[in-house]
Amino acid sequence: MDNESQSNTLRADMSPQNQQKVLRNFKHQIDTLSQFILRLSKFYDGFNPLLDRELHALRGHLVGKMNFAMAEVCISKLTGLLIENADFSKQQNAKVHGLLENAVSELQRNKSLPKELKEDTQQFLLTLQQSHTSLFSSYPYFDQALSLYQRALQSSVSKDQAEQPEAEEESFHQQLVWELRDLVLQLSSASKEQELQEIRQRLEQGLTHNQLLECCLLLVRALSKEVLKDRKQAERFISSLHNTLGNVSQAVGRSLKDSQAAYQLKVQNNQQLRQQLKGIELAVDETQDIALLKQQAGEYLNKMASTLDSRERADKEEQLVLMNLLREMKDQLSALEKEASEYKQKLLQQKYHSHHDPLTQIPNRYAYNDRVELEYRRWRRYGTNLSMALVDVDYFKSINDRYGHAGGDKTLQVIAQNISKCLRSTDFLARWGGEEFVILFPQTAVNELDAVLEKVRLQIEKIPFRFKEQAVTITVSIGAAGFNREDDVEAVFERADRALYDAKNQGRNRCVINKGS
Ligand code: GH3
Ligand code: MG
Ligand code: MG
Repeated sequence: MDNESQSNTLRADMSPQNQQKVLRNFKHQIDTLSQFILRLSKFYDGFNPLLDRELHALRGHLVGKMNFAMAEVCISKLTGLLIENADFSKQQNAKVHGLLENAVSELQRNKSLPKELKEDTQQFLLTLQQSHTSLFSSYPYFDQALSLYQRALQSSVSKDQAEQPEAEEESFHQQLVWELRDLVLQLSSASKEQELQEIRQRLEQGLTHNQLLECCLLLVRALSKEVLKDRKQAERFISSLHNTLGNVSQAVGRSLKDSQAAYQLKVQNNQQLRQQLKGIELAVDETQDIALLKQQAGEYLNKMASTLDSRERADKEEQLVLMNLLREMKDQLSALEKEASEYKQKLLQQKYHSHHDPLTQIPNRYAYNDRVELEYRRWRRYGTNLSMALVDVDYFKSINDRYGHAGGDKTLQVIAQNISKCLRSTDFLARWGGEEFVILFPQTAVNELDAVLEKVRLQIEKIPFRFKEQAVTITVSIGAAGFNREDDVEAVFERADRALYDAKNQGRNRCVINKGS
C-alpha cells in the first residue's frame, strides 16, 4: 500500500498521531467535496424548481455544521431528479437546436442577402444539420448564428441608406414629370404643335430618367420654336406697321408737292387775272371810242373767263388727287388696325394661358406672384388687412396610386372648383403646384379666417367622390397666416406653411391658423 492510501485509511494499530493525521485528511477532503458540490449545485440554479429546492436543502446540510445523513437523503432525491432531467434536457436541447436551425435557414432564404453572407449561412446550416450536440456544446453555434444575423442587419441598414436617395430621386423624378406636363399643357393649349402633343402623350405613359431628359430636350426645342414663331409674328406686324407708315408718309409728301404746284398755278392765274383787270382799266382810261372799248373789254373778259376755267379745272384735279390719297390712306390704316387687333387678341390669349393652370383652369403660380405683389403693395400703402392660406390635399399620392393619374387629375379639378365656391370674388385662389393651392384674402384679418377655412375644409370633405364604383372621402389640410408689421411675402408664406405642417402632424383634415407674428 502506498503512503497516500495509507494516510487515508484509519487503522486500529495506528499511533494516535497518525490517526489524527488521517482524520484531518478526511476532514479536508470532505470540505473540498462539499465546496465542490456547493459550486456545482449553484450551476444548476434555476434549471428546474424541484431541483432548486433540493439543491437549496443540500447546500443547507453541507455548510456550517454539516448533516451528512440529511445530505445523503437530498443526494439520493437529487440523483433521481437528475436522471429524469437528463431526458428532459435532451429534448430541450433538440428543440433549441431545431429552433436555431430554422432561424438560420430563414436567414439563408432571404433574397436580399449579399452573396458572401449567403454562402457563409449555407455553410453554417450544413454544420448545424450534421451535429446533434449537448446543450453546452451548442453555445458556440448560437454565437455564430448571432454574428450572421448581425451581418445581415448591417447589410440591410446600409442598403436602406443607399436606397434612401433612390426614393428621393424617384419622388423628384415624379415631380419633374408633373411640372413638365403642366408646362406642356400650358403651351399646347396655346399652340397646335404636333411635337407638344407627342411629349404630352409620352409624359402620360411614364418615363425612365433618360426618357424624361429626352422629353425636357424636346420641350426646350418646341419652346424655342414657339418663341421664334412669336417673334416672327411680331416682326411681321412691325414691318407692316413700318410699310404703312412709309406709304402714308410718301403719299403726304406727294400731296404736299401737288399742293405746291397747284398753289403756283393759282398764283399765276391770279397774276393773269390782275393783268387782265389792269388791261380793262387802261382801256377804260385811254379809249374814247365806245365801240373800240367794247371790243377791247370783250377780249379781256374772254381771257379772264378762260383763266377762271383753267383754274376751276386745276382745283377739281387737286381735289380728286386728295380724295384718292385719303381713300388710300384710310384703307391702309384699317388693314393695320385689323392686324393690330389680331395681335392684341393673341397677346391677351397668351397672357391668359401663361397665368392660368391648364388642368384646373384657375390662376397658376405666376398669376399668384403678380397678385401677391399687388396686394402686398396695397397692404403696405393703405394698412388694410391681408391674409394667406395654403391648402394641401391629404394622402394625394395614394389617390394617384389607387385610382391612377387620371383619377388624381379629376380630383384636383373638382377640389379647385369647390374651393372657389367658398370664396368671395375679392379673394384670390391659385394652384401653387401639384396638389397644393394658395389663397389670398385681401381686407381680411387672420382672426376672421376660421369660418371661411372651416367652410372650405368641410366643403371638400363632403364631396361625394366615386372611383371604381366606390365612394371615397377626400380631405384637405389648411395652414394660414396674416401679414404683420414688417413682414414680407416670404415670411408670411413660411408661417402659413409651418401651420400647414402642424395641421398634417395633428392628424390632417384640419385647419391650423397662425395667429401670432
Ligand atoms: P400628405 O397628406 O402628407 O400631403 O400626403 P401626400 O400623399 O399628399 O404627399 P405629397 O405631397 O408628397 O404627394 C403629392 C403627390 O401629388 C405627389 C405627386 O406625384 C402628385 N402630383 C403632383 N402633381 C400632380 C398632378 O398634376 N396630377 C396628379 N394626378 N398628381 C400629381
Ligand atoms: Mg403636398
Ligand atoms: Mg398632400
